Amino acid sequence: MTATGTLGGRVEQATENFDVLIVGAGISGVGAAYHLTKQRPGTSFVVLEALDSFGGTWWTHRYPGIRSDSDLYTFGYRFKPWTSAPIATAEEIRKYMGEVIEENDLGCHIRYKHKIASARWCSQDNRWTIEAVRTDTGETRRFSANFLWMCQGYYRHSEGYTPDWPGMERFTGKIVHPQSWPEDLDYAGKRVVVIGSGATAATLVPAIAADCAHVTVLQRSPTYFIPGRNENDLADTLRELEIDEAWIHEIVRRKILHDQAAFTKRSFEEPEAVKQELIGGVRAYLGPDYDIETHFTPRYRPWRQRIAFVPDGDIFQGIKSGKASVVTDEIDTFTEKGICLKSGRELEADIIITATGFNLNVLGDIAFEIDGKPLVFSDTVTYRGMMFTGVPNLVWVFGYFRASWTLRADLLADFVCRLLAHMEARGARRVEVALRPEDKDMKLLPWIDPENFNPGYLMRAMHLLPKRGEKPEWQHTQDYWREKDELPAIDLDGREFVYG
Ligand SMILES: Cc1cc2nc3c(=O)[nH]c(=O)nc-3n(C[C@H](O)[C@H](O)[C@H](O)COP(=O)(O)OP(=O)(O)OC[C@H]3O[C@@H](n4cnc5c(N)ncnc54)[C@H](O)[C@@H]3O)c2cc1C
Repeated sequence: MTATGTLGGRVEQATENFDVLIVGAGISGVGAAYHLTKQRPGTSFVVLEALDSFGGTWWTHRYPGIRSDSDLYTFGYRFKPWTSAPIATAEEIRKYMGEVIEENDLGCHIRYKHKIASARWCSQDNRWTIEAVRTDTGETRRFSANFLWMCQGYYRHSEGYTPDWPGMERFTGKIVHPQSWPEDLDYAGKRVVVIGSGATAATLVPAIAADCAHVTVLQRSPTYFIPGRNENDLADTLRELEIDEAWIHEIVRRKILHDQAAFTKRSFEEPEAVKQELIGGVRAYLGPDYDIETHFTPRYRPWRQRIAFVPDGDIFQGIKSGKASVVTDEIDTFTEKGICLKSGRELEADIIITATGFNLNVLGDIAFEIDGKPLVFSDTVTYRGMMFTGVPNLVWVFGYFRASWTLRADLLADFVCRLLAHMEARGARRVEVALRPEDKDMKLLPWIDPENFNPGYLMRAMHLLPKRGEKPEWQHTQDYWREKDELPAIDLDGREFVYG
């Protein structure tokens, strides 16, 4: 599949040609490769991955305690049973993904250390030309494909988000972002301040607290958590009954999704009751004398940000034991010795960990062009959060916030395979989405409604993301329960699809 040619006596760089090019070998990209081989055998494809191995999120993040915050019955693929405790470590997730690659012979399709720099669409030959830089040799490799399956996630893997606080340069200790955790970081006996109280802090703090002199979680405002046992009673019962693992996987997924649907519905219909339940769960660990009002009573409605599941309430146990504590305040400035807070209080530290989130990136920091013109994604309108007006032969896998990401990766894989089959049946080489005449007056809005979901990384990058329309088909509804029925029923001959 390699083409070479000469241009003015000079040997042109070899181009490898494929039907489909998958960007990224995280949970979405490996899933895409699996579905393509099963649903479209014979389709030629390659997966390009910038990192040295598969896993994406679960390869990049190496801080102590790194684990999922949702259950693996639903974060796992629908086609491969999860057979252990619901919350899994990064290592367990990578092992599971490695088995998917091995059992389905996907390894030969994946090229690691290939960072895609540009993707150019040419309407004349209906193909994308992709240039990737090898991270080991610096060499540029060229590929071409008819269809781009964007599984590059939603944040920049090379660097996490650290706000620019005054005085940071004065601090004489170490400042570490969990996304680039130094392997040799010695925190034993040290005073550690963790800035941020999201899922990362909740995972990291219990993992290091026992070894540190003390860990202080410094948060501007509180977060919701769901403490609970890292077990699934239904799965355990079914295992005792020696039910087949494939059945257990399916049954437990359905039960979890059923319960999550009810919880999500309640958090919109009776947010105050849900809020009190969540806070009550934390109080049960910390006791009646702890100042829950200040440190664990969020100012937002439940589900406006992801809610982290805390296995066995481990972070609360750390707080109860005195090895960890929470300070709710704002940073005024960094000092030589630590952090001076707006209240005037000072926190001394040897190590400051900035668990302050990600830098969202739109479509993998790739320079896109369509017929020689730079593509500005924020000028496009999204079709169901997966395709974009005026962008041919491209689907982006952007999962769910309120349900496991992989549920959508599986659903979109079915959609892409169906779309490719449909194109083949129609003899089409190109498909894009376009607003229909009835959408002409539709109001265009930012990618997501901040009233609905508003984590910092999304708010910071909203201006870079495609627009959303008022109608559900022109937005990422974030609603798995609706999409599981709607996506398979999409009429591919609908007027929003334009073939060529
Ligand atoms: C610490 C942490 C915990 C999380 N826990 C959960 C959870 O429990 N449940 C849940 O649903 N979600 C969770 N998430 C969200 C999580 O990122 C997604 O669920 C999921 O892992 C995303 O998978 P992905 O394959 O789409 O993207 P990623 O995991 O981000 O992988 C994308 C891959 O694409 C590659 N790539 C990107 N750009 C390029 C390029 N230009 N060229 C080549 N390769 C490129 C990257 O190197 C990466 O390997 C978590 C996120 C984090 C950071």
